[in-house]
Amino acid sequence: MEHLLRKPNIFKFDDAFRTRWLGFDHSAFSPTSFADYTTERGWDKERLLDGDLAGAHPSQQAKTRKDIALSAAAMVQSWLYFGFLEGICQERVDTTSFISANIEADGYRTLHSNELFDILKSSNAIATFLEHHDHAQAKVAFDLLAGDLLAANEVCNRVLKFTFHPSLEYPEWAPLLESILPSILLMLEAIEGMAKRFYPTHPRLRLDRRHFPPDAQRKRLERLTRLGWCPFTLDRLSRTTNNSVMSWIEVAQFKRETNRHTSCESSQCRLYQIDPNSYQTKHVSPTCKCSFQSPNLDVLQFSLRKGKVPAITVITEESQLRLDITTFDVGKRGSYVAFSHVWADGLGSVSEVGLPECQIKRLATMASVIPGCKRSCFWIDSLCIPRRKDLRQQAITLMAKTYSTATAVVVLDREIQMAGAASSEEIFLSICGSGWMGRLWTYQEAALARRLVFKMKDGLYELIPSQLPPPTLPLITIWTHLAKQLRKLTTESDSGVQTISSVQATLASRQTSKPDDETLAISGILGLDASILQQHESEARKATFWKLLRSVPQGVIHLPGRKLTLNGFRWAPQTLMYQPGHGSNTMFHPDEAICTDDGLIGDFEGLFLKNTVKTRPDSRIYLHQEGGSGYEVIGVDDSNLDFAFDAIVLAGKGLQELVGREGIGTAILLTKPALRERVEYCGECTQRLLIRSASPDTMRGAGKSFEVTVQRRHLCLT
Ligand SMILES: [Zn+2]
Ligand SMILES: [Zn+2]
Repeated sequence: MEHLLRKPNIFKFDDAFRTRWLGFDHSAFSPTSFADYTTERGWDKERLLDGDLAGAHPSQQAKTRKDIALSAAAMVQSWLYFGFLEGICQERVDTTSFISANIEADGYRTLHSNELFDILKSSNAIATFLEHHDHAQAKVAFDLLAGDLLAANEVCNRVLKFTFHPSLEYPEWAPLLESILPSILLMLEAIEGMAKRFYPTHPRLRLDRRHFPPDAQRKRLERLTRLGWCPFTLDRLSRTTNNSVMSWIEVAQFKRETNRHTSCESSQCRLYQIDPNSYQTKHVSPTCKCSFQSPNLDVLQFSLRKGKVPAITVITEESQLRLDITTFDVGKRGSYVAFSHVWADGLGSVSEVGLPECQIKRLATMASVIPGCKRSCFWIDSLCIPRRKDLRQQAITLMAKTYSTATAVVVLDREIQMAGAASSEEIFLSICGSGWMGRLWTYQEAALARRLVFKMKDGLYELIPSQLPPPTLPLITIWTHLAKQLRKLTTESDSGVQTISSVQATLASRQTSKPDDETLAISGILGLDASILQQHESEARKATFWKLLRSVPQGVIHLPGRKLTLNGFRWAPQTLMYQPGHGSNTMFHPDEAICTDDGLIGDFEGLFLKNTVKTRPDSRIYLHQEGGSGYEVIGVDDSNLDFAFDAIVLAGKGLQELVGREGIGTAILLTKPALRERVEYCGECTQRLLIRSASPDTMRGAGKSFEVTVQRRHLCLT
């Protein structure tokens, strides 16, 4: 993983990052393709990947089990590392550039990637491309590279399986794979990232997600937590970036303040969850005792009633501080700054209470340096949103417009403010890894901004998601994955309206202290009227939200977590924010359905049974098509109540996606006769299921199985 650093240095690393070279004699054979590497060396690839380690090579027979596992792992390491590199470079790779000369105390040499980038640059096939940027000349080399990346991924996935389900026959096999796979995965990501950068339009080059071996992943998260990172943030970064980003944070030793996130979990950051009863607004310095100032409530009320944005100007007269209110028409470019902050940092309040003078002066100073901001005019919720319910509602209705009208949105986050503007990648990480990035409201605040500015250690930093600064690290993969997250900070369309699918994908790694705010906080980016939502509370508000959206992807029914209990909306998730479990990416579905008071109406494709089946969530059910494929299903909801169903609606592209893998589906109980014309059945979602295609052997062993037919039906899910 040395290639993740700007100035690689193998000697900097301690044992946690060291990869043992298991000693396979790679150089004994001439360079060959990745596909032929095993066969040329007399190894049976299929046996090896099926875990028949003794039968994979003639020399294995006479060895002890321990040695069998060791030589198989050594083979896999050499194949995936040097076999892959030689395959794509189409020439001999000097292994001494990657393997240390010294033998360490444990008897092994060290495999390192200090010279990975230089080797790639000097390989004939790739250099042609890198130097000339000539797609025509390099097409062949990149076709080969893309093909080999896919093949190597496939091999990685097959051997990774042994780390999740260790072999009883060869107990050393899984730990050996755990130790060699991280460096291989990081090398593949580096090459994939570089290739993608130089040839972004290549049809077969993808940015794939790769699992880290479970033990290595757990240890890496523990070490990152010790560097001060919040488990919730780490979980978000793990799911939204790649292994290279996670390992880079570690090897580059990007620290966070210690002891802040000690009680947090991967499902929730407790530091940012606010209890309004015990919340205390903070001064700039803990010793400051200055008085609080608040704006005139009557003027504020007048502005909100007129549907105008009230912004604050700080007037100092004879060392007395006074807050004036200037009102701005929405829709026009307002000459004020809107602040986006997280309450946990101490800037939270309401208009009636106000903020300490020291904080107000600080905000005005920041506003004064933003071009286009007249008289240091600024808007912040703590001064401009009253506690009084009717005024609060009006302010929230105006919220989206408040941010989209401002000349700039300035982000204040304690962690981002401590970061220096060192390199593109470090700036990106400080933003992507901040508490601000994990909050509900800040999503819309950033997405609607005309200009997005971050307060950092050395001053203000403007981020233009569509024109990000170029990468500075030699290998591009880290930049690419962080940039992808930053681009999500802006709306995709000119109208500023996002799709519910992309909103859900972003919300899945955010949280809030007030669950009832969820629909309000995203209404602006979805083009919905927050005032209509505010006429309702809790579940009724959520049901209204879905009705206002009207047309939604059918995949919504497969999202993990609890559902609403209101009739007609029992298919709808309680929240789009973080939920553990399978299926959080099911919203991307080509077919839509319509949200109505009666239910979710659409043409759903699924597996239909002849009779109702009753079962327990944890018992496996087998299904088959007449004379055709078999399927195995099991419940995945967090419930142990029995459930019944007559149909299963599948997520994604349905059956065609199931071949050789598992998918998500929802069990439907078709109960009542049709309520409306064209609706063939009403149905109730009774359980989310994991479904996978079952082999004929599995089906024979299963005994009883239920016959299903694939049909598309017009359903109303209640
Ligand atoms: Zn935390
Ligand atoms: Zn103060």
